[in-house]
Amino acid sequence: MTEKLRPCPFCGGEAKIQLTDSEGNGKSESYLENPYSGVGYVIVHDLSNSGDYCPIATDYDVVQGGNIYASKEAAINAWNRRDCNDIAESRIESTIDIINEEIEVEKKQIKNYRNVIRTHLDRSDGLSEWHNDQISYMNDIVNRKALTITLKEQILNDLKWIMEGLR
Ligand SMILES: [Zn+2]
Repeated sequence: MTEKLRPCPFCGGEAKIQLTDSEGNGKSESYLENPYSGVGYVIVHDLSNSGDYCPIATDYDVVQGGNIYASKEAAINAWNRRDCNDIAESRIESTIDIINEEIEVEKKQIKNYRNVIRTHLDRSDGLSEWHNDQISYMNDIVNRKALTITLKEQILNDLKWIMEGLR
């Protein structure tokens, strides 16, 4: 069976099969003469053989989906069957987690700024020009962060929509 790997559905780049031991450590073909640590096959589609901005390309030498297949055929079938949708899905999921974390951080920062603004406003001895400058400066930051949160929430919606398409 000499079925070939199809090009990447996202960037058209090529994927490669790499022989490994059963734990995914890369091996050369000569290892097959004495595969003392088991045999496995992984798919590599990294930055060196992908197009620009491929959503599933990994860093150099990182294995697609972290999967180790028992045979070359199993690896080819998995890739050609578009298991890469699963890979894209898991990458999008982790991106969503990161964005959610950033939104939380920004919300906390907004809260802190608002507290400081309130402290300034509560001063009984009146506001100096310096205080007023500080307050408007901090209000700008709060507004900017609020806008950033809105944009990030829109990106989250788009990503969730893309995820639906992959399923
Ligand atoms: Zn690709």
